[in-house]
Amino acid sequence: MSQTMRSIVWHGPGQVALEQREGPSPGPGEVLVEVLYNGLCSTDYPIVQGEVAGSWPGMILGHEPVGIVLSLGEGVAQPKIGARVVLDTMIGCGSCRFCQGGHSELCAHSDEIGFSLHGNWTDFAALPAANLHVLPDAIGDLEATMLEALTCQLGAIEALDVRFGETAVIIGSGLAALTFIQLLRLKGAGHVAISMRNYAERIELAGEFGADQIVCDGDWGALRAHAQVRADEGFDLSIDAVGTQETSLAALSLARRGGRVLLYGLRSAVIDGFPLGETIFRNLTLFGRTSAPWMWRPAMDLVVGGAVRLRPMVGEVVELEDVPGLLTGSRERGGPLKRVIRVRGKQRGGICAYHRDVEVN
Ligand SMILES: [Zn+2]
Ligand SMILES: [Zn+2]
Repeated sequence: MSQTMRSIVWHGPGQVALEQREGPSPGPGEVLVEVLYNGLCSTDYPIVQGEVAGSWPGMILGHEPVGIVLSLGEGVAQPKIGARVVLDTMIGCGSCRFCQGGHSELCAHSDEIGFSLHGNWTDFAALPAANLHVLPDAIGDLEATMLEALTCQLGAIEALDVRFGETAVIIGSGLAALTFIQLLRLKGAGHVAISMRNYAERIELAGEFGADQIVCDGDWGALRAHAQVRADEGFDLSIDAVGTQETSLAALSLARRGGRVLLYGLRSAVIDGFPLGETIFRNLTLFGRTSAPWMWRPAMDLVVGGAVRLRPMVGEVVELEDVPGLLTGSRERGGPLKRVIRVRGKQRGGICAYHRDVEVN
């Protein structure tokens, strides 16, 4: 392919531009994908601020594509031309013991598409065939942009080894926080509490997804009202799905002695004054998690079976041209939950109703 295509390019902290770049040709082991939609992920904000190691000026951003395979590079048999695909972003060395065991996220020499390698906020992308998953028909294009995030969330919740009846608290109002409610319910947690910002639609979704207790704007005292939590002086499981100093410290203090704490949010990648002493004296176990490439099959199965609902979280479809402004402007609070970027798909703009299924044809 020699014609030019639109690309969203990062040029250093706070600098993002729409540019014309030469269209890619698939190399050996790659396929050429026409990008229909792509996700705007909360991780893209710290990348744009230059807070995520590995990103470099001149890099194309974006890592949540759904697209159609147009042509195959040398040596590629799967996926077939015309297949609708999503992308596992982790590129391991392929030969270390972690890569061989399906854990490329632990590879010492891994790269990640959209983080340290060119992303795919572009009309066309040459992507490694081995990293593509063919989408089942039952998963729509828009919700498919949330599958990569769901794999990460599944890996994080699995790490916590949730036991039946345990108490859990989530701090956050975003996609991850709302998905964690669904996953903790699936895993058999007994009491699921969430501390959110006072955003009406998101609070409604939290209730719909099965939260037992919803408190607003850091009312930590109210969270301790539940009888078991009061008796234990904290929760069995405590999750920070925001990633600021305030929320990570709150997650630590909300865990009971011997509790497990998941640090998942990445609002700011640098947190000072972390009380390691408290972690030791209170026998806490901390989990840090991001990618979970072995979770693609479970993620798709859970969405197809209806056990995890992504569709109600699609908040808005924006155009590729809107992306630089969205990433560099002030980040509005309580805006649309999941922003999906229309690249070459047909479903255009507007804010989708939270509870209406968004159909794409
Ligand atoms: Zn992401
Ligand atoms: Zn490796």
